[in-house]
Amino acid sequence: MASMRAVQVSEAGGPFELVEREVPTPGPGQALVRVHACGICHSDSYAKVGGFPGVTHPLVPGHEIAGAIEAIGEGVHGWEVGQRVGVGWFGGNCGWCELCRRGDLMNCLNMDIPGISVDGGYADYVLVKAGALASIPDDLSAEDAAPLLCAGLTTFNALRHSGARGGDLVAVLGVGGLGHLGIQFAAKLGFDTVAIARGRAKAELALRLGARRYIDSTSEDPAAELTRLGGAKVILSTVTSTAAMDAAFGGLGVHGKLLVLGASMDPLQVAPAMLIAGSKSIAGHASGTSKDSEDTLAFSVLTDVRPVIETFPLEQATQAYERMMSGDARFRVVLTTGA
Ligand SMILES: [Zn+2]
Ligand SMILES: [Zn+2]
Repeated sequence: MASMRAVQVSEAGGPFELVEREVPTPGPGQALVRVHACGICHSDSYAKVGGFPGVTHPLVPGHEIAGAIEAIGEGVHGWEVGQRVGVGWFGGNCGWCELCRRGDLMNCLNMDIPGISVDGGYADYVLVKAGALASIPDDLSAEDAAPLLCAGLTTFNALRHSGARGGDLVAVLGVGGLGHLGIQFAAKLGFDTVAIARGRAKAELALRLGARRYIDSTSEDPAAELTRLGGAKVILSTVTSTAAMDAAFGGLGVHGKLLVLGASMDPLQVAPAMLIAGSKSIAGHASGTSKDSEDTLAFSVLTDVRPVIETFPLEQATQAYERMMSGDARFRVVLTTGA
């Protein structure tokens, strides 16, 4: 039996362990993917420390997987061995639950999540449901595709479904792993894009990525500035600080929407009355399906959106994960297998 490297977490809170495993065989409806690159996402901390429904150990983390199909199981249609593919948070839907039957695949009650409910991409190979595969365009490297499959998809899909239209004022709150992609997508989707972050350190970068205006929230009032610019149609929040969201909320224009991507358990302080004047709203957005991933990758090639990344070899998963968790990475960390 052929063996492969995998980085697993054996128990909640335990370390990453580089282990040898047997290369799995794809069952019916599955594909075996040779992993070329796998991005590290903040949500990988669920695999590391637990605390998310469906996490069982031992577990191989990783849901920003880019590689190529090595083998396909019975009953897989539309995919070929050798084809370059990616997989994100959406690991395939069940097909029989209430939400699947309504066509709402992303909210499937039994969805596979790579690196959370099934083994993920911190390995040489990973098994994936064929319905979770996204085709990777030739012009996109595996290292660049990987972060686009979660961080990219999340921001792109949220923005394109936000209701904002070309020329509308859209603010991206936070210039980090999600935000640096959100700024690029907002600009490339034709929005009048404003970036908001703390301090001046990321100002020049934000402008280079496509923002027309940068607001330093430590020296300027983001709500007042957005109002002065006409009021935002959308504030895309990529931060976890609810204080930062509160400070920006007042900058929404009429029918403006605070779109929340950064997962925080802290409550917002927005007074309900502030939602009524101007018919404003607060909404969340869950990433997207495999087809949304494919759209994200295609749009990124079409408009030249790329993540800013740091790469580490698979065997340095521990250092790579710590680098990502430190908040110092510019901006996404990607593991490479050498394949
Ligand atoms: Zn993620
Ligand atoms: Zn389902």
